[in-house]
Amino acid sequence: MDRGKDDFLKEFGGDYGYPNSPKSIDEIRSTEFKRLEGHVYLDHAGATLYSELQMEAIFKELSTTVYGNPHSQSDAGMVTSDIIKEARQQVLDYFSASPREYRCVFTSGATSALKLVGEAFPWSSRSCFMYTMENHNSVLGIREYALGKGGQACAVDIEESGTYGKSSIKVCKRSSQRRYEYQDNTNAGDTCSLFALPSECNFSGVRFNLDLVKMIKEDSEKVLGGSDFCRSKWMVLIDAAKGCATEKVDLSRYPADFVVISFYKLFGYPTGLGALILRNDSASLLRKKYFSGGTVAAAIADIDFVKRREHVEELFEDGTTSFLSIASISHGFKLLNTLTLSAISRHTASLATFLRKMLLELKHENGANLCALYGHRVSKDLGPTISFNLRRPDGSWFGYREVEKLASLSGIQLRTGCFCNPGACAKYIGLSHQDIWSNVEAGHVCWDDNDILNGKPTGAVRVSFGYMSTYEDAKKLLDFLKGSFATSGNHCSLPCTKRLSSGQGIRVKSIHIYPIKSCAGFSAPSWPLSSTGFLHDRAWVLKSLTGEILTQKTVPILCLIGTYIDLSRGVLVVQSPLCKDKLEIDINPYSGNLGEEQVDLYSRRYDVQGYSEDVNAWFSTAVGRPCSLLRCYTINRNIICTKQRGKFSTCRDVKSQLNFSNEAQFLLISQESFSDLDNRINAVHSEKGAQQLSITINPDRFRPNLIISGGEAYGEDGWSTLRIGKNLFTSMGGCNRCQMINISNEGGRAHKSKEPLATLASYRRQKGKILFGILLRYEMDAEKEQIGEPSWVEVGDEVHPNLESAVN
Ligand SMILES: *Cc1c(COP(=O)(O)O)cnc(C)c1O
Repeated sequence: MDRGKDDFLKEFGGDYGYPNSPKSIDEIRSTEFKRLEGHVYLDHAGATLYSELQMEAIFKELSTTVYGNPHSQSDAGMVTSDIIKEARQQVLDYFSASPREYRCVFTSGATSALKLVGEAFPWSSRSCFMYTMENHNSVLGIREYALGKGGQACAVDIEESGTYGKSSIKVCKRSSQRRYEYQDNTNAGDTCSLFALPSECNFSGVRFNLDLVKMIKEDSEKVLGGSDFCRSKWMVLIDAAKGCATEKVDLSRYPADFVVISFYKLFGYPTGLGALILRNDSASLLRKKYFSGGTVAAAIADIDFVKRREHVEELFEDGTTSFLSIASISHGFKLLNTLTLSAISRHTASLATFLRKMLLELKHENGANLCALYGHRVSKDLGPTISFNLRRPDGSWFGYREVEKLASLSGIQLRTGCFCNPGACAKYIGLSHQDIWSNVEAGHVCWDDNDILNGKPTGAVRVSFGYMSTYEDAKKLLDFLKGSFATSGNHCSLPCTKRLSSGQGIRVKSIHIYPIKSCAGFSAPSWPLSSTGFLHDRAWVLKSLTGEILTQKTVPILCLIGTYIDLSRGVLVVQSPLCKDKLEIDINPYSGNLGEEQVDLYSRRYDVQGYSEDVNAWFSTAVGRPCSLLRCYTINRNIICTKQRGKFSTCRDVKSQLNFSNEAQFLLISQESFSDLDNRINAVHSEKGAQQLSITINPDRFRPNLIISGGEAYGEDGWSTLRIGKNLFTSMGGCNRCQMINISNEGGRAHKSKEPLATLASYRRQKGKILFGILLRYEMDAEKEQIGEPSWVEVGDEVHPNLESAVN
């Protein structure tokens, strides 16, 4: 055992694990979560995981029982009714809710339970919907119903007051009211208002003091400070969707009117099933509009007559419930009840307390903190959910998308963004309404890559633990954050590897051409240059039936299509393991003028030329789906000016040969950079004791056009211009790498892994990019081009970097 774990157990050993259960935490992981091998799953607030034994038990039950429609009076229907009754009881038991006071209504999730309350709540123009700032969007949405009936909506901050150890409501953040066309005739005394709070905030992990429930219901005047709507009858809704997975929400102590949950947050399976637990007396005040099969006792089709069912469950469950899912939940509850919720609570708290402490201790070499944690100062009562952002040594923020991408390369799964909790996000990150509006205007929406706007994060990184999380999960996250984001003495990030290479003795080692975008390329001893790069490089693309351009990122099989251009015969030759014969395609751009059209790629528009059915049929077979070959055409006209004796003399239109390169004309990498990367990958793998002795990364994956050798590793980083033979090139900077380099052709099959991007990410990161190789632009000699005599690059050509004086 490592010393870190020893220390952890010394401090948290009393809480960690399940000493009173038949299996230890390590046994649970190795027998019931075998699929987690190689994963560090830290998104239990998003969805927790089901146990493999739980699924076996469910499968066994479903495959040995005949379950019919619960509305049928058949034996099979009765079996279903019985199991649903049992399931309701288990849900109520989980919340210590007496069946005399409470009912359990099954819904399709916590969200639909919330919507049900919003729809059926007896809103009037005197009602108020009050909710804590920290709430899920699905709770905030209830305000539409309140406002729609002319009521008010009001967000409040809860403050812990130390003296009384009780929560009090601090300020009304915002009160909204929509003018409403008609007046209703309810008396103030009959008015109902609703207060909503989560048991645990799914952003910060802050747990709310549920004593508030009684206080609001019994003494609303005192809590709400004598405002107008104090006279209404207050009901309380607890969103327990996140909180109840790891801590008890005890309805015998906190008599809430409504509680909503989703079962996948409790034990991973089933999805699409939730529940609304509601008090009988509160249920009787709800006014449900819609009726349906399941909720109606009798109806007449051609007049307005309907008699609804009387039981709460029957009144609120429209249609047929998801009865096979309901039959599954007993296996989840069995699991939680065996471990006991109190042990789960202690176990997850030990991990979260440890992780928070360690995160706060992470420092850069200059002593600056790496992590900014959210919520830990607001309350001491925190659930196993931790949100944070990372800072650089100078205090600027790392984008959360960068953290997420690198984490996924290390096999760590976490969540980033605002987690559907805009109030908590704004509160903890410090976003004003103005910030949010301007972010929206700047085009930031959920899921996008704008993780920092105006120097402020637009969301956070969240890690959350479940009952099967381990110390090792937390440790791997810490090691990852330390290794990838904290700077230390021996950590060499990109700027310090930047060396100026003298460039003595550097030569072209190989030349590579990739005629069809994302397909394999070929190498050649020498190749002509054109105004857009190597002649015919990336001049073709494949397009799907729906119009998307195919790339290896989504269609890895493309890497198996081999290409070769025979310049003397003027043909492009293609081959594939899935096609019997090779195919030869005329490369004369004007041959066959089938289907001229335009395509958009990388936000540029290209004129393209299509090919015959035969050609498209060949590629459809090779790719395994219908697609067509397109060639970038030469319509765009460029003005080329000729420089003669230092002066521009003639300018003329030329048909410029376009290509589908995403960024620049050429990609250049040195053999020395490759070797260095190879060594690092193999060092990491031998450290991990991998059986495989060496992993060779085929340079093809990086799709370089030029491989040079004779200089230093990464020497090319520092070049601004270079001459290869007689040709001049300008560096456009480093090439940003993505997951595509993790796809390789292994014995005729496309294979995806974490390398080499994971290793590159560990030492070649700069401003959120992972750089490897440099992009070049060819500074074409216009005079030569005018004569129509192309320049060539040859293997063995000398490479002279940074010879600025020689350029002019
Ligand atoms: C997950 C979650 C919800 C929404 O649950 P659904 O299953 O998507 O309906 C609501 N509130 C909180 C606090 C949650 O964590």
